[in-house]
Amino acid sequence: MKAVKKQTPSAGADIVDVPIPKVGGDAVLCKVLAASVCGTDVHIYNWDNWAQKRIKPPLIFGHEFCGEVVETGPKVKHLRPGDRISAETHIPCHTCKQCKSGQMHICKNLKILGVDTDGCFAEYAILPEICCVKNAPSLPAEIASVQEPLGNAVYAVTESDVAGKTIAIFGDGPTGMFANIVARAYKAEKIFAVGAQSYRLDILKRLNPDIVIDARTENASEIIMGATGGDGADVVIEMSGSPKAIHAGLKVVSRGGIFTFFGIPSKPVELDIAEEIIFKGIKMNAIVGRKMFETWTQVAFLLESGRIDLKPVITHTFALEKIASAMELLKPDNIQAGKIILKPHP
Ligand SMILES: [Zn+2]
Ligand SMILES: [Zn+2]
Repeated sequence: MKAVKKQTPSAGADIVDVPIPKVGGDAVLCKVLAASVCGTDVHIYNWDNWAQKRIKPPLIFGHEFCGEVVETGPKVKHLRPGDRISAETHIPCHTCKQCKSGQMHICKNLKILGVDTDGCFAEYAILPEICCVKNAPSLPAEIASVQEPLGNAVYAVTESDVAGKTIAIFGDGPTGMFANIVARAYKAEKIFAVGAQSYRLDILKRLNPDIVIDARTENASEIIMGATGGDGADVVIEMSGSPKAIHAGLKVVSRGGIFTFFGIPSKPVELDIAEEIIFKGIKMNAIVGRKMFETWTQVAFLLESGRIDLKPVITHTFALEKIASAMELLKPDNIQAGKIILKPHP
C-alpha cells in the first residue's frame, strides 16, 4: 500500500510502498477513506523541536481519520467488515488506575496513533477495536474524519458550561474554529473570537461570533473588557497555547469565571498565580483528548441533529500523495487553509 512515511529524523516525508499491516488480537484493519491533517502532523512533517524530542522514525504519521473496516483480529467482538468508523487516537492500556476508573483518555501508559504507532496517512491503517468509533453510514467521510479534533472542542466547551454566558475563545486553529461552532450550538450568549492569522480570521468571521478580534493589531483584553462593561467574559477557552493569549485570557475572565486550558505552549509559561488566578476566584479546566466515549456521543448528536455545520472550516481536499501541497498551505508563518483532508484512494 501507499503511505506517507517519516523515514529519517529530518524535515519532510516520503511516499513509500509498504505491506498492508496484518491483523491479530483485537486489531482492526481499515481502508482509510479520509484523513485530516492536524497541527501535530505539521510539527512532525516540519521536524520542529517538539517532533525531534517526541517522534522516533521510521513512522507512518497521521491520526485523524475515518475508514471502512476490512478485516478484524480474532478478539474483535463488535465490528464487522463494511462498518464505517472514526479513530479515537488515544490508545489506552486497560490496566492502569485511570483506565479502570473511566478515564482512558488520560491513561498512564497512553499511546497516540500516528505518533507512537503507525498512523493513517496510508491506504490502510490498523488500530485496536476500543479506538474504533462506529459512524452513521450517512455521515460523509470528510466530516467523519474530523470528529477527533471536533471532539476536543466539544469536550472543552461542555466542561466550560457556556449556555447563556459571555465567552471568549482564544485561538484560530481547527479546534479554536470548531469551538466557536460548538459554543454557539451549546447556546453561548455572546462569543468573542480571537485569532492571529488572516486566512483563519476570515473563516472565524463566517462562523458568526459576535466580535472577531485580530490579536496582531487589536488589544483583545481592552475590547472584551469594554464590550462587557468591565466585567469580562464568564468563560475563557484558551486554544492557542500562546503566552500572550494566556495572560490576556486570564485578564478578561470575570471574577468567579471559568478558564479552560487546551492550547499547548511550546515552553513553560510564567503566571502570577495570586493576581491572575486566586484573587479572582476562577475555576480552571485542563482539557486533553476526548472523554472516552461520552464526548463521541455528544459529537455524533451534534452532527446527526444538524445543529452544527463544519463546512466553512474544511477548506481543501488533496490526494494523499499531494501531502507536500497541503503542508505548504499550513506553513506556521503563512497559513492559507482551514482543515485539509487527504484521500488515499481516488
Ligand atoms: Zn490531531
Ligand atoms: Zn491505562
